[in-house]
Amino acid sequence: MIADQIKAAVRDIPDFPKLGIIFKDITPILKDPSLCQGIVDAFAEKLADTKIDVIAGIESRGFLFGLMLAIKLGVPFVPVRKAGKLPYAIKQKVYELEYGTATIEMHTDAIEPGQYVLIHDDLLATGGTVTAASELIIELGGIISGFSFVIGLGFLNGKEKIEGLSDNIVVLAE
Ligand code: 5GP
Repeated sequence: MIADQIKAAVRDIPDFPKLGIIFKDITPILKDPSLCQGIVDAFAEKLADTKIDVIAGIESRGFLFGLMLAIKLGVPFVPVRKAGKLPYAIKQKVYELEYGTATIEMHTDAIEPGQYVLIHDDLLATGGTVTAASELIIELGGIISGFSFVIGLGFLNGKEKIEGLSDNIVVLAE
């Protein structure tokens, strides 16, 4: 099963990026092309009935499978980036973190009004990042058609936070 393969490949790194955090390192997945293919195929199968005009991937690990899935589904990929990275006209969203704030940005022409957008990231923790991305996409005129994640950290209740935006939440390994 794909969930077991993902869990077997992911590496737990204690105290990264700070003391007390156990970071899920997905880089071993990227070294296994057949597992990468399996992940993309599993997303495509689970999202077969979802209307997707555009996939928005969250910087930076959301770019990896986000773009692979966009190619597989034959739809555009657009990046959601940290502040100051995008070269063209941008719209931004400031959101709260545990300590302080963070800013994400998208190009103003990334989404056309009325387009159905799948938001993709490697991992769902608290859901704060994809909530901010959803708000930005809605401000650009997009409709959230769902979320996809390779990994979900269930104990942080991210699903509960985002299900009001779309209850179409695909998590391959929890
Ligand atoms: P959230 O906003 O849901 O709390 O955090 C999710 C974001 O933080 C994602 O963009 C994800 O890439 C990153 N993130 C948080 N913890 C981890 C982790 O343990 N492993 C990985 N790969 N990403 C993480």
